[in-house]
Amino acid sequence: MNPFENAQKQLHNALDAAGLQEKDVEFLKFPKRAVHVSFPVKLDNGTVKFFQGFRILYNDTRGPGKGGIRFHPQVDEHEVKALSFWMTIKNSVVDIPLGGGKGGVIINPKDHSESELERVSRGFIRALHQVLGPQQDVPAPDVYTTPQIMSWMLDEYETIISKHAPGLITGKPLELGGSQARGYSTAMGGAYVLKEVAELFDYDPVKTSVVIQGFGNAGMHMARILSGWNYKIIGISDSSVALHDDNGIDITKAMAYKAANRSLKGFGPKEISNAELLALKADILVPAALESVITKENADTINSKVIIELANGPITPDGDEILEKNGVVVIPDVLANAGGVIVSYFEWVQNNQGFYWAEKEILDKLETIMVNSFKDIHALVKEKDVSYRVAAFALAVQRLVKANKLRGW
Ligand code: NAD
Repeated sequence: MNPFENAQKQLHNALDAAGLQEKDVEFLKFPKRAVHVSFPVKLDNGTVKFFQGFRILYNDTRGPGKGGIRFHPQVDEHEVKALSFWMTIKNSVVDIPLGGGKGGVIINPKDHSESELERVSRGFIRALHQVLGPQQDVPAPDVYTTPQIMSWMLDEYETIISKHAPGLITGKPLELGGSQARGYSTAMGGAYVLKEVAELFDYDPVKTSVVIQGFGNAGMHMARILSGWNYKIIGISDSSVALHDDNGIDITKAMAYKAANRSLKGFGPKEISNAELLALKADILVPAALESVITKENADTINSKVIIELANGPITPDGDEILEKNGVVVIPDVLANAGGVIVSYFEWVQNNQGFYWAEKEILDKLETIMVNSFKDIHALVKEKDVSYRVAAFALAVQRLVKANKLRGW
């Protein structure tokens, strides 16, 4: 199944719980607009190379499109289409007034100099500026795109339109209108949801064991926040190694070690394989690295009671079925990792009004949205006796269908 077929299956699975029929969601079966461009970039050696880029506005019924741009050698239209669909669902799950979009450029950034990456970023905007804008479709960083790349893209756009328009793009550095707390917002949002789940299950943080796969932006900040709240982090990993200690791992030391050595290898606790890490006996497992790490091959080995999907798509649909049968509670990515897009939304609001909020105000607003979204979904889980994933999709689709009907379609 390609990722888009997978996404459509998730939509189909949510219809019963949403009280909807296939005909009601016809408008969610195809993107509203998919643009495929080829644009020239002068390389440092004087030759010209044409790059392929995509921008898909999946749906803008509830507001302008929102979603990242990835620079990756394997980006293709199916992937961007699926990701833009998931952004539509995610923004509706957390009830922010934005639609879903996604973009990409087929490029291996490691093969290019900084100045070539700048010209690729500017070329992408020159090719697509007519379909982007603060009230049309608002990009952000994604795989291998950075605040610096957002800055070049903003500059190119503002040069073309001869106006300031910081709300064009989010994930910018603070100096160009970025938001406080954006750097760790995904983990923070996931942590707020985890806290709600822990309260529901009466888990005392000191006695609650957590395993986190991935020690990058999402996973490392999650480990830092949870250990600050006194949760016991008994397993962590990065691409080089997985580490285990039932007495708890010192996350401050692990972060310092990773910063100094660029890897967790050699840090100390017992080294285990990544498969063993996922199968550790724990209260909560947080996949925060790659997609499709829990599949039908290993779902039966999972020994945690709750999984918080901080990564996008870490569990395949067949893995999901097995976990559900085994009674593992899965908090889906469209809720668990929405903190990033929520703070992107705050960045866009601040840019549009030209007035900026303090970090505490951002965190309070983020917590309110995450907690309310969790409660709405939890109520539907209880009412319909469905999984959190089905309930999240159902709620999102209901909101989209209502908005679409109100528009007269
Ligand atoms: P990142 O590149 O900062 O970190 C990824 C981490 O995963 C690294 O520590 C890497 O070493 C580790 N890793 C790679 N291969 C691994 C393997 N085989 N086993 C164990 N660990 C491995 O990326 P990130 O921004 O933290 O994103 C992680 C996931 O979270 C992705 O699925 C991403 O889509 C999702 N996500 C991130 C954000 C965000 O704001 N950063 C927002 C929403 C979703």
